[in-house]
Amino acid sequence: MNLKKNDIVQITIEDMGHNGEGIGKIDGYPLFIKDAVIGDEISAIVTKAGKSYGYGRVKDILRPSIHRVEPLCPHAGPCGGCQIQALEYSRQLEYKENTIRNHLKRIGGFENPPMEPIIGMDQPFYYRNKAQFPVGKDRDGRIITGFYAGRTHRIIDNRRCYLGLPVNEDILNRVISYMEECSVEPYDEETGTGIVRHVLIRSGFSSGEVMVCLVVNAKSLPSGEKLVERLRAIPGMASITISINRKKTNVIMGEDIRLLWGKTYITDSIGDIQYRVSPLSFYQVNPVQTRKLYELALEYAGLTGNETVWDLYCGIGTISLFLARNAGRVCGVEIIPQAIEDAKQNAALNGIENAEFFVGKAEEVLPQKYRDEQIKADVIVVDPPRKGCDEKLLETMVQMRPERIVYVSCDSATLARDLKYLCGNGYELVRVRGVDQFCQTVHVETIVLIQRKTM
Ligand code: SAH
Repeated sequence: MNLKKNDIVQITIEDMGHNGEGIGKIDGYPLFIKDAVIGDEISAIVTKAGKSYGYGRVKDILRPSIHRVEPLCPHAGPCGGCQIQALEYSRQLEYKENTIRNHLKRIGGFENPPMEPIIGMDQPFYYRNKAQFPVGKDRDGRIITGFYAGRTHRIIDNRRCYLGLPVNEDILNRVISYMEECSVEPYDEETGTGIVRHVLIRSGFSSGEVMVCLVVNAKSLPSGEKLVERLRAIPGMASITISINRKKTNVIMGEDIRLLWGKTYITDSIGDIQYRVSPLSFYQVNPVQTRKLYELALEYAGLTGNETVWDLYCGIGTISLFLARNAGRVCGVEIIPQAIEDAKQNAALNGIENAEFFVGKAEEVLPQKYRDEQIKADVIVVDPPRKGCDEKLLETMVQMRPERIVYVSCDSATLARDLKYLCGNGYELVRVRGVDQFCQTVHVETIVLIQRKTM
């Protein structure tokens, strides 16, 4: 192909890539075009032309796709948060289901995976219970906050994100007006100077409690009482803290949390289980969909009340506690010690006595306990991070021969890889279902049931 940078081409978008970009072909040569929607006819400017494929950006939309919708958010294009807001929601769901199916086929070798219809949201906006807004300055020295533009650290000035709750905007307005009035400078990544780095906001959807945590490059917050005065007037405000982070790093939160007002945590519930959530806790960001996901996990686990369940990668024990009342005993394993502390407290908070929690790597704790204590499992639940399960863990799981394995995954490519191993070692794939936890983005959550083959 003789395309080169800055060429202008006319192209029809026929497919979508894993980052939500549109894909069209010029004489068989694929061009990846950000913000183009499947079905669009566009003119595009080539931004990079490689040997076998290239990239471009939309110049003009000549004929918009019938699947194209007007994004609710005026920043949807440049913002790194949403990739597919311009695609109608039913098509977003179809795209995610196809992603799962393709991974299971191509990577897992499952010709005809037993897929059940993906579970979407009735209202695919305002669903996030957590947001982290970076704070900085614009060219004129004005304090701004919003989200990073895709793949950069440039802040798009936008306090109204439609994935989060409307209260966030009010909170940000108050934080920024406090900073302006008290001359508290935003942190500057280049020089390492200034104070306020991020504003973390969390809301308990069922409790109505709100948490604000300012991540600061300082030992304390100057005129903190002025901030408290402004924020405590917000309905539901329950926790105002700072997180001290003085390192030059992309890691947002600092480990040291100091209380400014209220409590250091908020409480929320999923179904009839209550959870205590601190600034540093991992907690699922979409509580409406999480409930559906956990109910499916309960259904897939097929519990009758006597089973021993191991919940690996358990975080603050959310799935473990959700299953505990229907099981004989639940054991959770998680790498972060603080999360295990939260899990134990959450068990106590709900009066659950048949749950135990262990700190460590799942791929170390499980093999060691299997070897030394001959632990057993009727059901194993895994919910690993994107990289999936370590092979040592999969080996032990197979040796333990649980009746059922429920695999919750936020990356269907590594899911497919792990299922290939498990189904090559005595298990069969029984149920697969997508749950849309991250509407308007390309991220896909999947839940799978595999069962031990009867010989
Ligand atoms: N099941 C929980 C959390 C899932 S997120 C929930 O639904 O809320 C994945 C979790 O795995 C995180 O809490 C992360 O800290 C933990 N983790 C990452 N690597 C791990 C490992 N090797 N062993 C155990 N836990 C791990």
